[in-house]
Amino acid sequence: MSKEFDVLVIGGGPGGYVAAIRAAQLGMKTACCESNPYADPKGEPRLGGTCLNVGCIPSKALLHTSHLFEEAGHSFESQGISVGKPKIDVPKMIERKNGIVEQLTGGIKGLFRKNKVTLLAGHGSFVGRAGDLWQVKVGDETVGARQVIVATGSKARHLPGIPVDNSIVCDNVGALDLNAVPKKLAVIGAGVIGLEMGSVWRRLGAEVTVLEALPDFLSLADVDVAKEALKVFTRQGLDIQFGCRIGEVRVTKKGVSIAYADRNGAEQKLDADRLIVSVGRVPNTDGLNAEAVGLQLNERGMIEVDGHCRTNLPGVWAVGDVVRGPMLAHKAMEEAVMVAELIAGQAGHCNFDTVPWVIYTSPEIAWVGRTEQQLKRDGVAYRVGKIPFLANGRALGMGDPTGFVKMLACANTDRILGVHIIGANASELISEAVVAMEFGAASEDLARICHAHPTLSEVVHEAALAVDKRPLHF
Ligand code: FAD
Ligand code: NAD
Repeated sequence: MSKEFDVLVIGGGPGGYVAAIRAAQLGMKTACCESNPYADPKGEPRLGGTCLNVGCIPSKALLHTSHLFEEAGHSFESQGISVGKPKIDVPKMIERKNGIVEQLTGGIKGLFRKNKVTLLAGHGSFVGRAGDLWQVKVGDETVGARQVIVATGSKARHLPGIPVDNSIVCDNVGALDLNAVPKKLAVIGAGVIGLEMGSVWRRLGAEVTVLEALPDFLSLADVDVAKEALKVFTRQGLDIQFGCRIGEVRVTKKGVSIAYADRNGAEQKLDADRLIVSVGRVPNTDGLNAEAVGLQLNERGMIEVDGHCRTNLPGVWAVGDVVRGPMLAHKAMEEAVMVAELIAGQAGHCNFDTVPWVIYTSPEIAWVGRTEQQLKRDGVAYRVGKIPFLANGRALGMGDPTGFVKMLACANTDRILGVHIIGANASELISEAVVAMEFGAASEDLARICHAHPTLSEVVHEAALAVDKRPLHF
């Protein structure tokens, strides 16, 4: 065996690179192997996984550009700014996005050098165990490691009979790289990717139709937030159809033709220039050789782990999208730090109850904790404080007073159980709620904290006051 490590991390996404950095910080000889298909110009594997290459970061770059485009076209005028009709240079927008990806993925390599993490280029595959070392084949060599952290992430789920070519029929990879604004864009799945990518291309001028299988919208979100979001997105021009059953999808000379049954069972046909398939993601265990070493997967193909990300094998851990729980980069990073610290003998910890969710549409949607429908289902007595952004001076000044903050607190103890926001900068505002909930705060605690004026955070403050029916500005 050529090389030996205390810790080998398989996969260099947010789960993997963070686990490697933290393990190295804690004094362990650490390597991370990566077989990323999005190789950089030097032919090396690029770190950062789905998140940095074809997920969180590129999507947010395009959301920003398309938001500015929409503002320039629709709201500048009302503020007395004339710039004429804005034009979009799609290749330039994509080039900017690619530049951000290059910068950040390169930055992780720098962090590896700084923390003395060895980067091994190649696909990691379990071979077996020799003494106290796991043997893992990486590319052409076999390395030994006392502890292995599997962080192989996820890939887009595709639908049978709908081949993705990432040109006409795209998953997240192609959706982030369209070379022109499609006149008509079809999206299958009204989940997070469908809404974010649908918003990008709608803002830039595409006519977007989203076909969703379920009868309800955003079933994980609080019911009031989902209702408001559907109203706003529909007003913006996203055509979202529910209860759809997708039939034959054909690539034609002009684009793509989608046959489907609508919610009443009537056969329909949708012709579009491009199709985005965003129907969820599946864990990535391809070529890991899990079965050879008896690494247990669950019925959905995820690596089975306990609350501390321990697998059924001694010294083998798994974090991020390849295990249960929400497929979110910050959840992967939390688990990564926990595992590295547990390996080092520390008290690693991950509070799954306070993992925030964010959807980067406009308005943004963010929440933490339990929804009103969950509290009802669980028979928990609660009080609600709900305040719109409409009366907030900062929101009006920004020209963006849509949405509200809704706080749910225990009727008996006043402890905050959930905070749900739809509105401008919800992605940033939710952090206050996460901190409050991590500290076990009551709504009264937030109500008695001074919030800067004029800020959007005053609406969070007012929602806390509203739980006790004493809002000051509403
Ligand atoms: P990944 O990021 O998937 O990384 C796994 C890595 O392992 C990959 O680089 C892969 O090449 C490598 N690998 C796999 N198998 C092997 C092997 N056998 N050997 C070596 N290497 C291997 N989350 C958010 O929190 N916020 C967002 O805004 C957000 N936006 C998103 C937008 C899109 C379009 C998509 C698709 C996802 C988004 N996500 C977002 C989800 C987020 O990207 C994932 O939750 C996160 O990347 C998971 O991290 P991970 O390390 O578990 O897996
Ligand atoms: P998703 O689970 O968010 O949504 C998938 C949607 O597709 C659901 O509404 C589902 O009912 C629908 N669907 C499933 N099968 C269908 C079918 N046959 N026909 C029509 N509709 C169908 O999945 P996604 O949008 O693909 O995103 C994948 C994951 O990536 C997310 O769950 C999330 O964890 C992560 N992500 C996060 C962010 C963020 O944090 N802002 C952004 C993008 C992606």
